[in-house]
Amino acid sequence: MTLDQARAELKSRQARMSAYAHATALIYYDGVTAAPKGTAENRAQTLAVLSEESYRLSTDEKFIETLEFLDENSSELSEAERRQVYLLLKDIRAMRKIPMEEFVAYQRLLAEADAVWHEAKEKSDFPLFEPLLRQIFDTNVRFAGYIAPEKKPYDYWLGEYEDGLTMEKCDGFFAAVRARLVPLIEKASAAKPVDESVINGCFPTAKQEELSTWLMKTIGLDLDHVGITTTEHPFTTSFGSHFDERITTHYHEEDFSMSMFSVIHEGGHALYDTGSADELAYTVLDGGVSMGVHESQSRFYENILGRSRGFCELAFPKLVELFPQLSKYTAEDFYRAVNRVRPSLIRTEADEVTYCLHVMIRYEIEKRVMAGELAVHDLPGEWNRLYKEYLGVDVPDDRQGVLQDSHWSGGMIGYFPSYALGSAYGAQFLAKMRESVDVDGCLRRGDFAPINAWNRENIWRHGCLYAPDKLLERVFGAPFDPKYYLDYLESKVKDVYGV
Ligand code: ZN
Repeated sequence: MTLDQARAELKSRQARMSAYAHATALIYYDGVTAAPKGTAENRAQTLAVLSEESYRLSTDEKFIETLEFLDENSSELSEAERRQVYLLLKDIRAMRKIPMEEFVAYQRLLAEADAVWHEAKEKSDFPLFEPLLRQIFDTNVRFAGYIAPEKKPYDYWLGEYEDGLTMEKCDGFFAAVRARLVPLIEKASAAKPVDESVINGCFPTAKQEELSTWLMKTIGLDLDHVGITTTEHPFTTSFGSHFDERITTHYHEEDFSMSMFSVIHEGGHALYDTGSADELAYTVLDGGVSMGVHESQSRFYENILGRSRGFCELAFPKLVELFPQLSKYTAEDFYRAVNRVRPSLIRTEADEVTYCLHVMIRYEIEKRVMAGELAVHDLPGEWNRLYKEYLGVDVPDDRQGVLQDSHWSGGMIGYFPSYALGSAYGAQFLAKMRESVDVDGCLRRGDFAPINAWNRENIWRHGCLYAPDKLLERVFGAPFDPKYYLDYLESKVKDVYGV
């Protein structure tokens, strides 16, 4: 094998892997958007075949020999090629420790779990979902044992979503957050409540669709490469490369702000993915580097930019144009309503300040289930107890409780902490961005170009070229520190509530 042959194989193999990823993502997307109810079993059948083929494609002996050859000659490779080889070998070595039948069975289980979770949520019927959820947790514990027997299973999965993350780090982060957030929430709750009537009423879906298009254009998405459709639980996905990105939303006619901020959130994910350098397409370096950095971008657009006073002033005239009943309100009323602090039941609808506590509850539950200290059967009771203890709210049913999120049905255990970490990274990005960009001025003018250019230069274009902790250090010029996030939240509460 010559070096040129090995390089060509590296390139073509990744292109084929991207094609399988494209097909798999499209089938999943169809399942949660357009597909009729009775088709889940059919998709599960196809996905099982595709996952078996893609497992073979990425783990066969010939490819491993190629990668090992390239690894031995790494001084001849570009920085991007070296990183591709490193990431592929890491994945393959992990995958080969999982027996293929178990890997394929797990893909089938996830496809079924997705459909059952939808039904269980609709009926608020946890026992329907319970056996599948137990199998998902058991499989995650077993797979972690195959791949990294030296680690605690939950540490392994935390690190899969955010390289280098462990329970020890999470415990430290959440303790720092809890220490300042709990008194902050108490202060806001004791203050005069914010009038939220501006966002409540009747807002026709067709008008909200117009708003979505306006938002996508305003934040700088390229609508020739980013599409939108509706689903139960909004998400973003890439098809094959960053040239085809899809976001999703869910319209609530009684409150336009729910879809509005979810479009900006998913739009942030799409900006990050589509901002990858074009030469990274059809390689494993294309798209966002980790869940934490991904959430730092989505929550940056949703909250730090989207809920800022400048952006609320920019958006309000458009809102009045679409929903004339809002003409009796002001942009300031809107700003205050979308920044109200109120403990609630649903994570995706939570305000910025209480949000982290929703994540903490999921983290504590996952940690204990993965350690065998909490049975899946007892999840609803424990969920409800923690919501009462941390947020002071009573959970009326499992639909608004333990069944609300899609992550567990998708096998994503260890993902939730990245939402909280991402929010905190975002605040430190803002502090850095402000050194060279007039962020508030840009928002008032509706000029996202300088903000997006900064993110593209510092974060997006690199794709997965740098590990997340390296990327953060490059941008921050200092270690990650949750203090920026807590300072930001305190000043927001002071601004809205005067306390
Ligand atoms: Zn997100």
